[in-house]
Amino acid sequence: MKDLCAKLQIVGADILSVSNDEQRKQKSVQLLAVSKRHPASSIREAFACGQTTFGENYAQEMLEKAEQLSDLAIEWHFIGPLQSNKTRPIAAVADWVHAVDRLKIARRLSDQRPEGLPPLSLCLQVNISEEESKSGVLPHEVSALAKEVALLPNIKLRGLMTIPKAETDFNKQREIFAKLRGLQEELIKEGMQLDTLSMGMSADMPAAIAEGATIVRIGTAIFGTRM
Ligand SMILES: *Cc1c(COP(=O)(O)O)cnc(C)c1O
Repeated sequence: MKDLCAKLQIVGADILSVSNDEQRKQKSVQLLAVSKRHPASSIREAFACGQTTFGENYAQEMLEKAEQLSDLAIEWHFIGPLQSNKTRPIAAVADWVHAVDRLKIARRLSDQRPEGLPPLSLCLQVNISEEESKSGVLPHEVSALAKEVALLPNIKLRGLMTIPKAETDFNKQREIFAKLRGLQEELIKEGMQLDTLSMGMSADMPAAIAEGATIVRIGTAIFGTRM
């Protein structure tokens, strides 16, 4: 318990220190704790330390954990690839979905969002490094998709998300994140109201914050290596 609180504190302090160095506005970078492949009991511990937002990659795993932890006011972010046969339960449980790259999935989430819940917050995943094997919409396709998704009634389009090609060099990492930021700025110029850049993981968090990340998704640095 103490251990997990200490890790959360260290990561939180890192975020704060990089944010200050980069002259980011206070509290403009949010920590999403990525708990995939860690037990629900670890999430409960982290929640007790004050962490309230958690990210999961696998639909079934998130649904099971959400049920086990339904007594806690957790904000659930689904950050993995979403198949159309899992949109219904995810639309009911998630507060955010980060990795949407097809209109079909966004449309199903909107149609299946239960009445009485606020619109589902959504980010479009961009294949920013244009890798053949990666999911995500290509940069030149983002604007058209964003315009259609923004019209869906039960979706609130928040911004863009990416998982870039692994780079160890800080400046190279920055360059890639700068591209995502540029795309978001173009969308804003076209009149869209976006407030989120979901980018940065344990290995590239400082570069992401330097380029304007508003949500960093951190797993290993908090929970350790995955099962
Ligand atoms: C696993 C995962 C993370 C967290 O990665 P770490 O390297 O453990 O910090 C962030 N985002 C996505 C989409 C992931 O799948």
